[in-house]
Amino acid sequence: MLTNTAAEKPWVLIKVARSIVPPLGIAGILFSLVALFGYLTSYEVLYRPFTNGPATNPLTAICILLLGMSLCLKKRYAKPLQLSFAGLVILITLLRIADIVTHSGLTAYISPFYDRVLMDIEQGQSNSMGLNTAVMFFFIALSQLLFSTRQLALSQFVASISVVIPTISLTGYAYNLTGFYGQMSMLTTVAGGALALAMLCLTAHYGGLRAILSPYLGGKIARKQTIAGYLVPTVLGFMVAQSLSANEADEFGIFVVVMCWFIIIMVSVSAIYQERIDSKRRAGERLLAQAALNDPLTNLPNRRMFNDFAQAELARAKGRAGTFWLLILDIDHFKNINDTAGHDMGDEVLIALGQRLKESVRDLDLVCRMGGEEFSIILSGNSRQEAQQVAERIRHSIEQLEVKGWTDLHGPITTSIGGATNTPQNTIEDMVKVADSALYQAKQQGRNRVIFA
Ligand code: GH3
Ligand code: MG
Ligand code: MG
Repeated sequence: MLTNTAAEKPWVLIKVARSIVPPLGIAGILFSLVALFGYLTSYEVLYRPFTNGPATNPLTAICILLLGMSLCLKKRYAKPLQLSFAGLVILITLLRIADIVTHSGLTAYISPFYDRVLMDIEQGQSNSMGLNTAVMFFFIALSQLLFSTRQLALSQFVASISVVIPTISLTGYAYNLTGFYGQMSMLTTVAGGALALAMLCLTAHYGGLRAILSPYLGGKIARKQTIAGYLVPTVLGFMVAQSLSANEADEFGIFVVVMCWFIIIMVSVSAIYQERIDSKRRAGERLLAQAALNDPLTNLPNRRMFNDFAQAELARAKGRAGTFWLLILDIDHFKNINDTAGHDMGDEVLIALGQRLKESVRDLDLVCRMGGEEFSIILSGNSRQEAQQVAERIRHSIEQLEVKGWTDLHGPITTSIGGATNTPQNTIEDMVKVADSALYQAKQQGRNRVIFA
């Protein structure tokens, strides 16, 4: 049993980030189903919530549906489905991009509810998947494809590009720069933003994102820098943009968005290096703690850990007026083993005996090497009779222990065990003294026996 002093902190934010992926996917599915139901029933308000406002195009809704589903799938049978959904979205968006560039009208052939879309356009209402929307969903789908094929670094990189697009659109809505959002409706911005964010969160346990979400100092600093790096330029930019002409504001807006993302990339990169250095430092710290609390020969906890554990046990026992037992075990005539078969054989006996002791008690009990050929065992919550039975079982089990080169030539290894329990007044030092004197009695009475004070 190890103490918690150097244990890794839980990476809570990574768990949170990864746990929001399926809900975001479900939100996307619901959103797209509502829009598609609107087309199916010609109930316009479902796909165009504000009269004369922007609509969610049916192809956009299909892309959101496919990506939402791929984000919700559970691991085991997910891969082929995720690949097909992402592949479909990539096809649709590439077709749409080709359509926009060549004015070929290709998407008319694959768009569901196209009559309805045409009717809207003829009536002067907007209803089409804009270039920014197509590019955004292309990147989200590409990121999913890369994630499913385990290219985590690339997947994260592409997902962060896909997050930039809805942020540009949002900045456009905030600064009132129409060029920034174009035909991307607020609804598509939010849905796309949620899917892009979910996609990014899929790799929260990896690379720059992991470093930013770290529970250690590097992560804490990186998070503050990321928030400040985004908010400060955006707020200042917003104030400056008020006094600019529409053309100037467009250029200035681009400058602000680029600056924000430049800062965030810089922060992520330095967070990765910071986390690398810090994780090495933490590993070193764990090794030191391990060395300070464990005996190198038997790999059992040492006397220092015994003291910490016993103090905690004593405090707990006092809290609930309970009892625990301390056994001190000493190998009989151990010097004889060293003298007859050499120090190395003595070491082997100590290792084998330590292992046997560990196997003889429950996980919640502690076995440690106090020094030399003396071991101690703390038994939690047993009655006197149970503790005596355990001690007797241990003594017997060690008698059965086989150590090649010793027991086969010179007979069994025997031990003497002294036992003591806590009282309301005594300290750990008192308990050790009492158990030691019981052990002394066991030695006096001929060894290979258990005596409880
Ligand atoms: P008793 O039955 O009275 O306990 O006799 P004993 O021989 O076991 O007791 P004693 O205290 O005289 O001898 C203990 C020996 O354990 C002396 C010491 O050299 C040896 N020892 C202590 N630590 C180690 C170790 O790490 N490895 C080996 N091989 N021997 C050790
Ligand atoms: Mg001894
Ligand atoms: Mg001894």
